[in-house]
Amino acid sequence: MLYTCRAGTLQWSLVPRYCDVSVPVPLDRPFTYELPLTLRDRAQAGARVLVPFGNRKLIGMVLRCHDEAPSVATKEVFRLLDEEPVLDLALLNLGRWIASYYCSPLGEVLRSMVPLSAETRRTKVYSLTTIGRDTARQLLLGTPGDEPAVQLLRLLEARPLSSSTLERKIPNVAPALKALMKKGLVSLEQDEADRDPMRAPAARLRAEFAARVREGEKLPKSERELLSYLELHPGSHNLADLETVLPKASTAARALARRSLVSLRPEAPSMLVAPGRAPHALNARQQAAYESVAASLRAGKFEAFLIHGVTGSGKTEVYLKLIEETLALGRSALLLVPEIGLTPGVAGQFFHRFGDRVAILHSAFSGMERVEQWRRIRSGAAGVVVGTRSGVFAPVKNLGLIVIDEEHDQSYKQEENPRYNGRDVALVRARESNACVVLGSATPSLESRYNTERGKYTLLSMPDRIENRPMPEVELIDMRQEFLETRKQNTFSRALITAVRERLAIGEQTMFLMNRRGFASFACCRTCGERMLCRDCAVTLTYHRRDKRMLCHYCGYAEKVPEKCAHCDSDHIYFIGAGSEKVETELHQELGGARIARMDRDTVSSRHDYEEILHGFREKRFDVLVGTQMIAKGHDIPNVTLVGIVSADIGLGMPDFRAAERTFQLLTQAAGRAGRGSIPGQVLVQTINPEHYAIRCAAAQDYEKFYAKELEFRRLMRYPPFSALANLVVRSPQQEEALRMSTDIGNLLNPAPEGLKVLGPSEAPVPRLKQEFRYQLLIKAIHRKVLNETLNMIRRKVLESKWPATALIVDVDPLTLL
Ligand code: ADP
Ligand code: ZN
Ligand code: ZN
Repeated sequence: MLYTCRAGTLQWSLVPRYCDVSVPVPLDRPFTYELPLTLRDRAQAGARVLVPFGNRKLIGMVLRCHDEAPSVATKEVFRLLDEEPVLDLALLNLGRWIASYYCSPLGEVLRSMVPLSAETRRTKVYSLTTIGRDTARQLLLGTPGDEPAVQLLRLLEARPLSSSTLERKIPNVAPALKALMKKGLVSLEQDEADRDPMRAPAARLRAEFAARVREGEKLPKSERELLSYLELHPGSHNLADLETVLPKASTAARALARRSLVSLRPEAPSMLVAPGRAPHALNARQQAAYESVAASLRAGKFEAFLIHGVTGSGKTEVYLKLIEETLALGRSALLLVPEIGLTPGVAGQFFHRFGDRVAILHSAFSGMERVEQWRRIRSGAAGVVVGTRSGVFAPVKNLGLIVIDEEHDQSYKQEENPRYNGRDVALVRARESNACVVLGSATPSLESRYNTERGKYTLLSMPDRIENRPMPEVELIDMRQEFLETRKQNTFSRALITAVRERLAIGEQTMFLMNRRGFASFACCRTCGERMLCRDCAVTLTYHRRDKRMLCHYCGYAEKVPEKCAHCDSDHIYFIGAGSEKVETELHQELGGARIARMDRDTVSSRHDYEEILHGFREKRFDVLVGTQMIAKGHDIPNVTLVGIVSADIGLGMPDFRAAERTFQLLTQAAGRAGRGSIPGQVLVQTINPEHYAIRCAAAQDYEKFYAKELEFRRLMRYPPFSALANLVVRSPQQEEALRMSTDIGNLLNPAPEGLKVLGPSEAPVPRLKQEFRYQLLIKAIHRKVLNETLNMIRRKVLESKWPATALIVDVDPLTLL
């Protein structure tokens, strides 16, 4: 025991000698470390420490400092990373709740709550250079080889990887790595924190004229042009914008910067933001919704609201007003939006209203930017936070309000450990802080809507569009009938083509939803019927025509487009099913000179691409925008008067109890993109299931009817909200292993505990994924407590049996069963 005299006091106080630390490993308990003398009066709960763990060094979170000598020998803490705790006690408790509810190790939960790793990480990350990427594509198409260099290119083509990951995946990788770097195919990045700012993408850099070329010195044409442009246009310019003026601006600017003729610096986050609009006076419906929540805010007590407002009913304006009220009360507000919803438009409205009191947390920001925003929030400088899923952990002071826009959106659920749902975590956090929660959507999730019936949330309806603009008129087109009449398997019906041509003629815009990317869904042999499957997954490869390859949408594996069947050598290969790339191609043929843009994961690789396409469309640089679900979300583009849904049926056949709900949401949201300006909108929905209730209700824009019907189905089948659900997936590279482990779990659940129903073990819907075999068990429980106890029992057994750490996935409240 040690006593010290704290500065400024005369009192001797007890200084703890030990601390319990939660480290990010799949074990469920904290570890006790000894604090070195210098740290004993500084370490606090909620601060991060660097500790030895086995033969590694890990960053863990201090949970508690104490003086209880442990029975086993302890190691010493290496270093204290935070003098001030990064998580206060309330957030630490929220972390504990998540760990317990989602059956996730606490250390992993706490790590994902603090986005500060960029500060401390110093790992080496390898990525492909541009030449490397091209070579990889060529090579992968040609050689199926297993030599390290090929494996390396294949792995890096998917994403940059750290040296430790590479070493784990490829035995003896070092010589190959060295060779590829020498050839200029692979490059070493320090992690984001120390990455050379000059290598950031063009959209994130600004260039400014610095100096003239010295007498007699020669520059390549593109550099000469850029330099004189910058000299003639004083001030700093976004590099991506410059590229629209001078095609090679980005490369040229980097070259010029190396010679100090141009200065390059990172774009400040706020520069990515579009100007906002002036506030509107609320209409009666908006006002009523606002008043209800504001009353609760003023009372300072926890209450949850669901704003069910049709597309274009003006929900954002209500959120903005509520946030103003929250600030006026001296409290802070959090607004969560879906991953793809945080556009410059949205951010712009918030900057416009709240100025530098806003912090934006977006996963597209670099590590250091996120650190900086996070620190501003913690210091209390930012009282309004707009963020995606993990924004729910923003360390705001005196939280008063959390708004979750598009609460039904799937991106609120994290699909890796810890598998939490940001919306549900928000409710728990708000309850503990006596804050209000507002969930908003045009298509509320069944769970949320049902919670209003059970009195858990208050329902606020906004059934009309702003200024009584009509809802779009939706028409179903039966593609079976179309086939009977035309005798052709056309992608587009005659009615849809006629409608889009009419819009073209009068300068109005059209959106086409095709919720599957690629050109054709799969390749098939006419002679023997063989389908082309992924090497590593039990799924068919999708044909991507522009890239001339067959691509696995689950793992990224690519192959050459087959000329012959690998099975029977026949050269009668045909391609089945359409994707967004084919829709775009065929539209070009149908519409002659129309200007068409496509938005899906093949054309959008960064946030910048996404904004670029949307912006171009808004500025009427395109007549037609084709896209996957990306185009269905929240955009407000007044000149869009026609929405064509090429195939409403794509999601319906999924082996997932939420298939109907998701189809209904997607169709309703997509339809809601039409007619948001003063001209009424029209929606044409092509389907071969015109009787299906999800499609019928979406066409009628009848949420209540869909809700009633779907709720009945869930009640009958005992699916959420009538049960607590967990999905257990067991995986292993060896099929027998995976099968044995899933049988072991099955045995633990046999007989099933009271109040539990177990489905499986059975093969997962994707039985093989990324070289691993997968089996799954679905557990439905009447009471959440029983479910939680059962899952914990299983995890204990798994730990005792020393299964590999990644063998078991526990997904509580899963959103998808695939
Ligand atoms: P939602 O999110 O409910 O689909 P938005 O918030 O995008 O709807 O609002 C639709 C449009 O109506 C926006 O262009 C918005 O600026 C405008 N708007 C919102 N409230 C009002 C109002 N009270 N008066 C006039 N226009 C409004
Ligand atoms: Zn064949
Ligand atoms: Zn695959």
